[in-house]
Amino acid sequence: MPIYEYECRDCSGEFERLVRCRDIEVTCPHCQSPQVNRLVSLTHYRHADHWMSNVQNGLKKSLEKDQIKAEMKKTALAGV
Ligand SMILES: [Zn+2]
Repeated sequence: MPIYEYECRDCSGEFERLVRCRDIEVTCPHCQSPQVNRLVSLTHYRHADHWMSNVQNGLKKSLEKDQIKAEMKKTALAGV
């Protein structure tokens, strides 16, 4: 079950809510207003960071591969 962070549009209060069902109505615990925005939680940021570092590692690897390929081409051309 994901925990979402919300920000109240009426009182600007922030709170976290464990969401069991996607269509659950979330109200502000401070002023009971249903006018709330869902924020991206820290957990999601951490996942995104992890994902980004994976992508960057992947890019590095493919860059290395490209460099090796380029070197091989150079050597092949120099041989001819
Ligand atoms: Zn509120």
